Amino acid sequence: MPRYDFRSPRLYVEAALAEGATVALDTAQAHYLGTVLRRKSGDRVLVFNGRDGEWSATVAASKRPAAALRVGAKTRAQSAPADLHYWFAPLKAARLDYVVQKAVEMGASRLQPVLTRHGQVTRVNTERMRANAIEAAEQCGILALPDIEPPLAFARLLAARDPARRLVFCDEDAEVTDPTAALSGLPRSPLAVLIGPEGGFAEDERAALLRQPNVIRLSLGPRILRADTAAVAALALVQAVIGDWR
Ligand code: SAH
Repeated sequence: MPRYDFRSPRLYVEAALAEGATVALDTAQAHYLGTVLRRKSGDRVLVFNGRDGEWSATVAASKRPAAALRVGAKTRAQSAPADLHYWFAPLKAARLDYVVQKAVEMGASRLQPVLTRHGQVTRVNTERMRANAIEAAEQCGILALPDIEPPLAFARLLAARDPARRLVFCDEDAEVTDPTAALSGLPRSPLAVLIGPEGGFAEDERAALLRQPNVIRLSLGPRILRADTAAVAALALVQAVIGDWR
């Protein structure tokens, strides 16, 4: 793993970044930096905006309303985002926060909520998803934020799907077989991983998925995992066997 600076706080900002620029901090950022992290004028932080790479900056003022950073030298070039889509039946608030954070840490580049028959959640706060994605990106060091998509009905998602993007369908009803063997040897291709709702997939949803081209039906072992556990397990497997962990 490249030796990034993980000791300085890393902040996502919207503003363009260039040496000498001054970046104003919003209320939440000023609170986080000044009150939670107790950083004062002159302290070092890192900033990124998803476009211009990562930059070293110093706190110019940590108190609202003048809270601001002064941008110094570039520390890392902008890296290309990963290419791993994560499709998931949305969960209730706290567990949705968790799943979004973990999916970003695991390298998901697009978060796509999918509304299935047995899902219990139909409304998704995409702003909150974005805030969680930013928090995870700040924490894990990636420089590109994932795309956050609005929820889509299962049938529409399948109809709009690009068949060239292999879909790893995590099916609690699949026969238990070695998941490493099921994934290894596949040619490199864009991927999507699908995790169902707490209520599982309906039979017709499962049948529709299995009729689709370029779908791998994957078992995650002999126990039923909660959807948030399944998310981390499936993304870890995919990243380890055919993704960017190798
Ligand atoms: N209520 C369902 C379980 C759903 S678990 C039941 O009791 O059968 C939520 C989702 O996590 C599933 O839809 C699936 O995508 C994933 N999942 C959980 N355990 C799994 C396993 N052992 N194998 C594959 N996928 C699993």
